[in-house]
Amino acid sequence: MGQRYGQEHAPDHAPDHAPDHAPGHTPGHPPPVAYDVIVIGAGSTGENVADRARAAGLSAAVVESDLIGGDCSYWACMPSKALLRPAIARAEARAVPGLSGTVQGPLDAGAVLGHRDRVTSHWKDDGQVGWLDSVGVRIYRGHGRITGPKRVAVTSPEGDHHVLTARHAVAVCTGSRAVVPDLPGVKGAKVWTSHEATSAHQAPRRLAVVGGGVVGTEMATAWQALGSQVTLLVRGPGLLPRMEPFAGELVAEALREAGADVRTETSVTAVSRASDTVTLTLENGDMVEADEVLFATGRAPRTDDIGLDTVGLTPGTWLSVDDSCRVEGSTWLYGVGDVNHRALLTHQGKYQARIAGAAIVARAQGVPILESDAWGAHAATADHAAVPQVVFTHPEVAAVGPTHAEAVAAGHRVRAVDYDLGSVAGASLYGRGYRGQARMLVDLDREVLLGATFVGPGVGELLHAATIAVSGEVPIDRLWHAVPAFPTISEVWLRLLEAYRG
Ligand SMILES: Cc1cc2nc3c(=O)[nH]c(=O)nc-3n(C[C@H](O)[C@H](O)[C@H](O)COP(=O)(O)OP(=O)(O)OC[C@H]3O[C@@H](n4cnc5c(N)ncnc54)[C@H](O)[C@@H]3O)c2cc1C
Repeated sequence: MGQRYGQEHAPDHAPDHAPDHAPGHTPGHPPPVAYDVIVIGAGSTGENVADRARAAGLSAAVVESDLIGGDCSYWACMPSKALLRPAIARAEARAVPGLSGTVQGPLDAGAVLGHRDRVTSHWKDDGQVGWLDSVGVRIYRGHGRITGPKRVAVTSPEGDHHVLTARHAVAVCTGSRAVVPDLPGVKGAKVWTSHEATSAHQAPRRLAVVGGGVVGTEMATAWQALGSQVTLLVRGPGLLPRMEPFAGELVAEALREAGADVRTETSVTAVSRASDTVTLTLENGDMVEADEVLFATGRAPRTDDIGLDTVGLTPGTWLSVDDSCRVEGSTWLYGVGDVNHRALLTHQGKYQARIAGAAIVARAQGVPILESDAWGAHAATADHAAVPQVVFTHPEVAAVGPTHAEAVAAGHRVRAVDYDLGSVAGASLYGRGYRGQARMLVDLDREVLLGATFVGPGVGELLHAATIAVSGEVPIDRLWHAVPAFPTISEVWLRLLEAYRG
């Protein structure tokens, strides 16, 4: 068991640099306890900040108000991918000659949901508590609030209070929450956010999904495959608006083929619920009825009730940080993960945690560090140049770096090279009627890869090659000698380079 808030005994493997009691004790409350580093929020990011600090010999405590492991483990990446994997595997198997006939039936929704429950450890965090315990990170259960420079108050669910002080750093890793628009009727309509969409225990007969970003398209794909009749309502002209336009087009086409009703240029103006039916009123006067409605309409920072005002910051805002993830203008406060709005992805949050952890340790040891040191150990430069993302729809979308439009807007002289992914030999073997598209963006001034987007079954595993090429700034002439194996879908690299070199 982990060392929880309120327990009296330090773990056997207590930090070498053990916490001590700091001055400023209020009568009636336990005395303040000092750690080198205090982390508020033990999601995937916060856990890793604490782990990095401990690995360097600093003492560290995390404060967590819910489950250790955060959104990714219980209400985001892991459960959503557990729901999607059978849907994607079935769709791919249906395209394989000799196999397709055996996979025409419906998914076993009960088995899929049971698998999802196991992947989330049935929403129990003992495993992650065990990890933090094993590396000597002290866990405080409760709501953490900054009460002044380097000071954090913890209120446990039972109402007990503890005060912690940090010798070196406080890292805010409180993540983000789903935003539901304040539409007439929405409050009484028991709408879903990503929380319910990833943890529901049965497929609703009809599911309306509002929002065509990553969460909306992934959840529409999963629940349509699990037996719901999905209506996807998207305000803009297409799905996945932050990616290359062909990505959203191919995903919309596939969702429609799977039976979903995908409507673009559609705004919801009101919501109402009467017993089991929720009714959405659309801007054009149409009504959509469903059993549940998921609002996948964006994220807001969880910073409204963490005491930012006590240190001169505005509650409810994203934390503005430098490349070491230190809050601008502060010497001791860090904002890591979703909360800084740099890249709302688990792997980027964990990357930032490694960077911030190293920076905290370096500063604690008085080692001078260079925040602007491109690709150095103390600067999260990949956040600017090489953020990889996979959308686990069918087909998958995998992208790294900017889109063509973003690269042009940023002032790059860039060339987009496109190739039909379905026409490489590996794709024809992967499945009948493979549809996909690949684009690479070449920085014409430096002759390096700036970004890449792949859409098609199985492309998630193509992405890291592109990420290496982008982050390594590998010259195009050198990439010519990276020979893809035949007959894999990776051969698209060769086709893209041939097209570029003419
Ligand atoms: C449906 C969905 C699917 C996703 N899929 C993927 C994916 O496949 N891949 C990917 O890379 N990303 C994915 N993401 C994004 C990913 O989940 C987030 O980027 C990631 O979880 C952010 O981690 P974090 O540690 O910054 O925040 P969180 O995981 O949200 O952790 C923050 C923690 O802080 C705690 N907390 C908040 N306030 C306090 C307080 N005052 N006191 C104490 N504790 C507090 C919370 O309880 C929480 O445990 C997905 C997101 C969603 C919604």
